[in-house]
Amino acid sequence: KTRIFSGIQPSAGSLHLGNYIGALMQWRDLQDDYDAVYSVVDMHAITAPQDPAELRANTRATAAQYIAAGVDPSKSTLFIQSHVPAHAQLAWVLNTITGFGEASRMTQFKDKSARQGAEAASVGLFTYPMLMAADILLYDAQVVPVGDDQRQHVELTRDLAARFNSRFGDTFVVPEARILSETARIYDLQDPTSKMSKSAASDNGLIRLLDDPKRTAKKIRSAVTDTEREIRADRQAKPGVTNLLSILSAFTGTPVSALEGSFQGKGYGDLKGEVADAVVAELEPVRARTLELLDDPAELDRLLAVGAERAESIASETLAKVYERIGFVPRT
Ligand code: ATP
Ligand code: MG
Repeated sequence: KTRIFSGIQPSAGSLHLGNYIGALMQWRDLQDDYDAVYSVVDMHAITAPQDPAELRANTRATAAQYIAAGVDPSKSTLFIQSHVPAHAQLAWVLNTITGFGEASRMTQFKDKSARQGAEAASVGLFTYPMLMAADILLYDAQVVPVGDDQRQHVELTRDLAARFNSRFGDTFVVPEARILSETARIYDLQDPTSKMSKSAASDNGLIRLLDDPKRTAKKIRSAVTDTEREIRADRQAKPGVTNLLSILSAFTGTPVSALEGSFQGKGYGDLKGEVADAVVAELEPVRARTLELLDDPAELDRLLAVGAERAESIASETLAKVYERIGFVPRT
């Protein structure tokens, strides 16, 4: 089976609708046909200011949401990144073959460091893409299913893999991004031109998997639309309506074009009502299952330990090969 790798940062307690549609739903579908490795990437989460007790809780909560959304720990390798030290070790090696200028061109760094303030942004935020490259390359992942926002990082990963291979001999599999369709990209309900994000400024535009269903429905009913009346997808002219149609399409499996037809003669209130019902129906069981899993942290930790062991056995082999190729003296 083809190996795939993907991860989400535990940068908040609850994942959001964008993570769910853009990542978790796909991960669930991919795990039957692929050898899937899914990680809670806690080492990435410390590139932004964080609180230790919150990080610990968020990391377990994120793992629980993977499982609640259908990631099956007996089919996929599910683990916490910091449990496998090879991630940090390979990231260091990759740092040494990355150009400073090359890393400076990463748009996520530019966006996030601008938000944190250029002086406040850490060197860890700057080297984030090389840690992500290590995540992928350690597992010989051929495919990396990610949202379009991660395209540039996967490109860098490919460049680094090819560069290492040509300098030190064939070592890494050069991975390919599997970028989701545009309809899998979910936007902020209050600001539908920017993507829904855990670190978004406003709360009302963010649909959290663990929010109370009433609150979720209310946020959807107050989503920003436009002053027209027509229900059709047009990312430029009608970003709010288009976003609602994407969400409904993801949960009903009906293509956006068919939804446009079915809403002819209906108003934005009808659209919002249907979206709210679909989202609540989908998320309700995910929320309930997450809370159940968090009620038994020992069992959750046990599942994660099994995953860490499996991950480590793959990762340590790759790291040993890298250390040998690069000229480190083996410890005997
Ligand atoms: P942060 O603000 O901490 O970066 P995030 O919401 O961007 O959080 P990530 O952990 O960076 O989440 O991304 C996890 C996965 O979710 C990635 O595959 C990413 O492409 C996907 N993803 C994130 N936001 C969206 C979105 N709005 N729509 C679709 N997919 C998304
Ligand atoms: Mg992100």
